[in-house]
Amino acid sequence: MRRTSYRKNAIKIALLYPSTYSVAMSSAVFHILYFKLQDAGFYVERFTADRGPRGIEDGTPLSHFDYIVAAVHYELDYINLVKLLLEAGVPPRAARREAPRLIIGGPPVTANPEPVAEFADVIAVGELEPLWDSLIEYMTTGEEVEGLYYPQRGPHPVKIRHAENWSAADYRRIPEAEAAFSLSVELARGCPYSCLFCMESYISKPYRPRDWGAVLQEAAWLYRKYGIRPSLVALTASAHRHFKELLSEAVRQKLQLSIPSLRAELLDDETLELIAQLGQRTITIAPESSERLRKALGKDISDGEIIRIVRKAAELGMRVKLYLLVGVPCERDGDVQDLKRLLAEAKKTGAYLYVSVNPLVPKPQTPLQYHPMAPIPYLKKAIRAVEESPHDAFSHYDPVLAAIQAAISLGGREVSVHIENSAASNAPLGYWKRLLKNGALDYVFKPRDDPLPWGHVEGFFSSQQLKSMYEAFLKTACGH
Ligand code: SF4
Repeated sequence: MRRTSYRKNAIKIALLYPSTYSVAMSSAVFHILYFKLQDAGFYVERFTADRGPRGIEDGTPLSHFDYIVAAVHYELDYINLVKLLLEAGVPPRAARREAPRLIIGGPPVTANPEPVAEFADVIAVGELEPLWDSLIEYMTTGEEVEGLYYPQRGPHPVKIRHAENWSAADYRRIPEAEAAFSLSVELARGCPYSCLFCMESYISKPYRPRDWGAVLQEAAWLYRKYGIRPSLVALTASAHRHFKELLSEAVRQKLQLSIPSLRAELLDDETLELIAQLGQRTITIAPESSERLRKALGKDISDGEIIRIVRKAAELGMRVKLYLLVGVPCERDGDVQDLKRLLAEAKKTGAYLYVSVNPLVPKPQTPLQYHPMAPIPYLKKAIRAVEESPHDAFSHYDPVLAAIQAAISLGGREVSVHIENSAASNAPLGYWKRLLKNGALDYVFKPRDDPLPWGHVEGFFSSQQLKSMYEAFLKTACGH
């Protein structure tokens, strides 16, 4: 495809991903936007946090564009976004800016748009497809149109939108080596499960699996065209009702596929064998916590089942990556000990174990939005305890970063001051650490109640339903 070339009177769009270039290139929606915006007749250049305030294509300064369209997938990237605006000489606050207008979309702003509300002119709450026509009309006319969230009006009701008739992705890709590893085919949107901590699942309901035959055809097309294994993208690929048929057919066609996310109780021996035959070298499962907390969180998988999968994966020569959480509400010392026992058992199978531990960050739009985050010293201690278990590789997410992530994620409009100040500082992390120390972020570690800063964002479940789920969890997990 030819790029839309620069014309003086064309509407100019800076497509921005506020992380590194390689992370941007692994985002399917960034690719889709790049092509769709050009198809709609706009002049487009890409920007990423590490490439600075000039367009990747032609070096046009960010400040020369009519619109900035930012795709954001991680709350800490809000800081990079504001930093880039400052570097470009663009006033970050919408109220003090004539142009360019800033449009932000992505999962964290869908769950809670308020932390970036002071910066954005428009926030896309939900999936791209149902909002597309409104976005195009807005950027073409400059007038406010129905369907989008205009934060300058103040917090007001907005519904998370999802695609009703959702079909195949756009296959054209940026023909660069960096983009190749990210070739992907969507198998489903949403997840049929509702693990209590999982924001992605709650904001993307209902579950919408795609026709598995069509998915396979698209994967085969990509594999033949680029010679690289395409990834099947879904929150939980193995939840697809025809997952096994899809795998068998892919094996029959000698197709290589990458399957990143799996739900353990759906993995029988035959499925694992098929996955191994597809060339997958590592299997990733998420036991999360001790058996009792795992079940209370919504994952009905026993330790015995996890060991069975690890053993089978080892037999098949696959490495095993295990995602674990610490700081789960109602977690006791005994839960961490149970987790250590599980890891010790898993290691006895002879499997190569890669253990990844993350502090639980309570997220908006989930039942755990009401729960205080565990204190940082506790999280550090729990991570050290898990690290003592036998493993071959180990990584963890820093509890300090997790607390900052929570502070942004669970914040209201007032958090924008800290996003802006940290972006303007030479040491953003030091700025946030000082806030943690002086108690300015203590709301993260306290219980929360309605009305919450994102209470006007209407998701699949009402806040009463989320609260009932939370209370049921407390009863099961903490006994009160
Ligand atoms: S199975 Fe995975 S994707 Fe689905 S709700 Fe649970 S954690 Fe989220």
